[in-house]
Amino acid sequence: GTPLELVDVVKQYDSGAETVRALKGVDFAVERGEFVSVIGPSGSGKSTMLNLLGLLDVPTSGEVLLDGVDAATYDDAERTDARREYIGFVFQSFYLIDALTATENVTLPTVYERDPEARARAEDLLERVGLGDRLDHRPTQLSGGQKQRVAIARSLINEPAVVLADEPTGNLDQDTGTAVLEEFADVCEQGVAVVTVTHDPLVNEFADRVVELTDGVIRDVR
Ligand code: ADP
Ligand code: ADP
Repeated sequence: GTPLELVDVVKQYDSGAETVRALKGVDFAVERGEFVSVIGPSGSGKSTMLNLLGLLDVPTSGEVLLDGVDAATYDDAERTDARREYIGFVFQSFYLIDALTATENVTLPTVYERDPEARARAEDLLERVGLGDRLDHRPTQLSGGQKQRVAIARSLINEPAVVLADEPTGNLDQDTGTAVLEEFADVCEQGVAVVTVTHDPLVNEFADRVVELTDGVIRDVR
């Protein structure tokens, strides 16, 4: 089935006297092996949408479906578990831990399970993203593109159905960004669903589909 879907999602922020409708009835679905780019100007609702897809926040109304199951039926602990097992995250600013090696950074999302295989899997993933010769390097010894590839490996360690990426090329030059996007395309070919949120038009060249948010309303671009 469809791994991740938003159905008629409204997200409203109430801060004191003011109410902001950040998403106004968004329908969105991503399939396994599909790479979808979400674009839109600042303030259009992209971060809000990503936070809902990532189970980091809950909608005001509408449904967030994981393999057809409404995440609203989960309590906080179940939502956290579902996020860990089901969704990988990649950020513009990498969020790697400087005190840890590349391999240790990649194993971080498994610490809750104390998985004895995690280290070997992390090494495999780092090899897959072309960093087999950087396993014991720390983030400060890596370039921006290498750091983002470590982050991609980390996002895959729990074999998620979906990887969500927030401006993954935002801190990278064009060539490095291209290499990172090629990694996302490979991730997709392994059957993972990839959703990026970005201002970078380069991303759209690698995406199967492009959707645009404008003032909380979504539409298909391509
Ligand atoms: P984008 O990521 O496209 O810049 P956001 O999702 O961050 O857009 O924001 C969409 C709208 O919701 C904006 O008007 C923003 O000011 C508002 N917004 C976002 N987060 C909050 C919040 N926590 N409280 C109040 N308003 C918010
Ligand atoms: P950047 O601007 O570098 O892409 P942000 O700090 O704006 O990253 O974070 C993007 C979104 O990801 C935020 O809305 C935040 O809620 C979420 N986020 C940030 N750090 C984490 C984290 N460690 N785990 C899960 N979600 C996070």
